[in-house]
Amino acid sequence: EMEGLRDLPAVTSDGSRITLNANIGLLSDIRVANLHGAEGVGLYRTEFPYMTRTAFPNRNEQAALYRKVLEGFPNQTVNIRTLDIGGDKGLPYFPFPHEDNPFLGWRSIRFSLEREDIFREQLAGILLASPAGHPTIMFPLISSVDEIRQIRFILAEVSKELHQSGHDTLQNVPLGIMIEIPAAVQIVDFLLEEVDYVSIGTNDLIQYTLAADRNNQRVKQYYDPHHPAVLHSIKRVADAAAQAGKKVSICGEMAADPLNALLLLGMGIREFSLSAPSIPLVKQAIRANPLEECQRLAEAVLICRSSYDVRQVLLEARSTLQ
Ligand code: PEP
Ligand code: MG
Repeated sequence: EMEGLRDLPAVTSDGSRITLNANIGLLSDIRVANLHGAEGVGLYRTEFPYMTRTAFPNRNEQAALYRKVLEGFPNQTVNIRTLDIGGDKGLPYFPFPHEDNPFLGWRSIRFSLEREDIFREQLAGILLASPAGHPTIMFPLISSVDEIRQIRFILAEVSKELHQSGHDTLQNVPLGIMIEIPAAVQIVDFLLEEVDYVSIGTNDLIQYTLAADRNNQRVKQYYDPHHPAVLHSIKRVADAAAQAGKKVSICGEMAADPLNALLLLGMGIREFSLSAPSIPLVKQAIRANPLEECQRLAEAVLICRSSYDVRQVLLEARSTLQ
């Protein structure tokens, strides 16, 4: 039954088209994504190629790899996320300085903007590979408009240098950011003016919104996707993107649960990026239910004052939804 789903579109029973992309990291994930009927790549985590080496890869090494990834999705978009290192993700050849709070520290885009040499090398690698497919570039852990302006300035310089040295690269590759810090939710309207699209990283957004380490079992009851603060943050981003006429997707684990996906659908999200094996079940849920029902569910959930109440509503929905 799941086999047959692969080539069917993710469309609600009342006709709304939803996009289901895959999260990938390794080359072997290309096959897994295609196998599960992904429509593209909503999140390519580029830190994996950095992790499995003995030194920072140069632009040509990266370009060779990114080309292979782009060629793995000939008619589809691949959303390449720049290096998201630090926090819990180390590199065997780079000694990160000790920090008391690494998740509040030197990680992700903050690393890239300080180690501009490494960042430029990655952007060059992506641009060199760009003619091989349909890339977009996404930046993680954005907390301000200034960061985006700094990124655009650097990217323009890298692009210019490549052209001056005779390289053929795509012009105007779409640029997006991840919304995964509460500050980004608060200023999402301003951020949207600076980029082509946004993607909500619920793994980190939940962690930072609720001040609960995503890897700490001790506080796992605080790490709660159904907390009203999390749900209203997502709703705010969805509304702001619709208002701005820009694309919004969700690429965190939260949407891998079919009922959560229906809830998020009801809140206005039309594009998801999931670990590929989660795609069939989510697609099945989408195809079995009308959008109208999802919107009713979202309405009922968004007036809840507590996670407990949210879970009661979801439990009830389990019996009415397919
Ligand atoms: C997220 O934070 O939700 C996300 C998709 O990125 P990562 O899990 O790689 O931090
Ligand atoms: Mg993240």
